[in-house]
Amino acid sequence: MTDALLLSRVKERQQAPPLFEWDEYQIARSEFEYRREADDYADETDDEIWESVYDDQFLFEDAWDWLVESITEWIERINPKGGWYVEATGLGWQNRDEFAAFETTDGAEFVRRVFGFDTNQFTLRLWGDQDGTHILRGSVAHHDSPTGEGRTVFPSPICDQCGDVIFPDGPVEVEAYGCKYLCCAYCAEDATNSD
Ligand SMILES: [Zn+2]
Repeated sequence: MTDALLLSRVKERQQAPPLFEWDEYQIARSEFEYRREADDYADETDDEIWESVYDDQFLFEDAWDWLVESITEWIERINPKGGWYVEATGLGWQNRDEFAAFETTDGAEFVRRVFGFDTNQFTLRLWGDQDGTHILRGSVAHHDSPTGEGRTVFPSPICDQCGDVIFPDGPVEVEAYGCKYLCCAYCAEDATNSD
C-alpha cells in the first residue's frame, strides 16, 4: 500500500489542494489577509490585526463547523451507508501501524474515528483519489507527532448478513434465494457451507 504520509508530502509539494484540511495557521493567515484589505481595519497595525484574528473565537468555531459539515455532505454523496476502514501509519515514537473499521455518516464522528482526537489541536490534510474509489490519503500532525502520521481511509461496504464493515479486499458476492448479497468472508463461508 502507498505510504499516505509520503504521498501527502508529495502532493503538498505539487500544491494540489487537499479535499479536507484543518490548519489553524492557514485559517488565521487568510483571515488576516482579508482584514488587512478591509476598510474597518485600515487604521490598525499588522500586529493589532493578528491579535484580533487570534482573539476571534468564532473564526475557528465557524471554520470547524464548515469542515465537519463538508465531510458529512461528502459522506452522503459517496458512501451513504457509512462503512469505513482506516489505516494509520507512523504512530508515536514506535512508528506503529494500526488498522480499524468503523461506521458513521457524521463528519465530526468521522474526524474523531479517523484521527483519534477529541480536540482540534492538530493540522490535517486529506486528498481524495481521482480514480472514482474515493479513497482518502493524507496526514495529521499534532504536539506528540510534529512530523506527522499517515492516514488512508477506504469507503468500505457493509456485510448484508452480519452488518460488519468489510475490509477493502474482503467483500464476497453470495447468491442465495435468487438474490445477490455482499458478505464478509465469514458469512460467505457460512453461506457456502450450508448449501
Ligand atoms: Zn458478515
